[in-house]
Amino acid sequence: MQQSVFEHMQQMGHEQVVFCHDPHSGLNAIIAIHNTTLGPALGGTRLWNYGSHNDAIIDALRLSRGMTYKAAISGLNLGGGKAVIVADPSQKSEALWRRYGKFVDSLNGKYITAEDVNTSARDMEYIALETQHVTGVPEYMGGSGDPSPFTAYGVFVGMKASAKKVWGNDSLSGKKVVVQGVGHVGQYLVGHLIEEGAKVYITDINEAKLKETVEKFRTVEVIEGSKLFDMDMDVYAPCALGATLNTESINKMKCPIVAGAANNQLADENVHGPMLIEKGIIYAPDFLINAGGLINVAAELDGYNRERVMGNVNKIYDRTLDIFQLSETDKIHTQAAAIKIAEKRLADIANVKARL
Ligand code: NAD
Repeated sequence: MQQSVFEHMQQMGHEQVVFCHDPHSGLNAIIAIHNTTLGPALGGTRLWNYGSHNDAIIDALRLSRGMTYKAAISGLNLGGGKAVIVADPSQKSEALWRRYGKFVDSLNGKYITAEDVNTSARDMEYIALETQHVTGVPEYMGGSGDPSPFTAYGVFVGMKASAKKVWGNDSLSGKKVVVQGVGHVGQYLVGHLIEEGAKVYITDINEAKLKETVEKFRTVEVIEGSKLFDMDMDVYAPCALGATLNTESINKMKCPIVAGAANNQLADENVHGPMLIEKGIIYAPDFLINAGGLINVAAELDGYNRERVMGNVNKIYDRTLDIFQLSETDKIHTQAAAIKIAEKRLADIANVKARL
């Protein structure tokens, strides 16, 4: 029997989930607030044509939990939240975004939004007309714009730290890297990899994105998605959607490193985290290395300074090495090690707050 939303919330430790249905604008949205111990819940809004409303709820719950850990491990004073809008990207309209802005506003700042899959800085601009609780708005409106370049850079430094762990040297020059998903983050990541001298292979379900990437970076090679896990590669970089690290893919996988931007890469972290370790594959935890965008939008809240942001994104390198170390000393998989660090900070701060 399918679990109820309350059972899921209890299992994952959510504080609040709110729904909005507005037939006039076509808005069907869910905001999931996982944990606000460290501050207001900040997380992007994903627009996706979900197969069912249950899929949308589960995605919002899983993604918001990841945001709690992402903020906690990155030293940010923010909680974890995420929103999903059930729609086809062709349904985007000013009315939909402005109605959604009002929905965000109704939470009085407990949830702050930003971009995610299928949402852009331009969409944030409409949301900003209805609420101040939005980040990632364009530069000309006083925001920091698209967070993807910062996410991509963070993934790149997390990948280099993984290379250091595996090969004792963090250079990716000459390494075969497969980037799955060449959207906002994937394309910036390809840019860093090419600059570093890596041999980059790309795959995407969207032909236009592949064409755009090949035109921008002449040396990339397109591969078929169905052949991805048959390939001998040095690094697999999942930059599309989650759950690509599952029993089937891990069994096939022939690479020493997985490091990418997608959220919730492990289909089941308790099964697939240990499975990667057993196969000798080093996995750079998603919420740790894809935190660059969050670090960037969070900076909008207390006076944006690009240099400070880049300094914080660079810290992902050492944090990734620390997680690999903890994974070894505690004999736990790398995602569990990252969660352990995040949960410790959450518990410490909850304790401080409870005593004041
Ligand atoms: P995007 O929508 O711009 O790009 C995603 C790309 O993946 C698209 O080109 C899409 O066609 C492709 N794709 C979807 N399904 C695919 C599949 N099965 N195989 C191959 N390609 C597929 O999104 P984005 O902003 O680049 O984000 C990518 C991932 O990184 C998402 O999981 C997102 O949640 C995560 N992420 C993004 C940011 C950010 O700053 N944008 C921050 C943290 C995490």
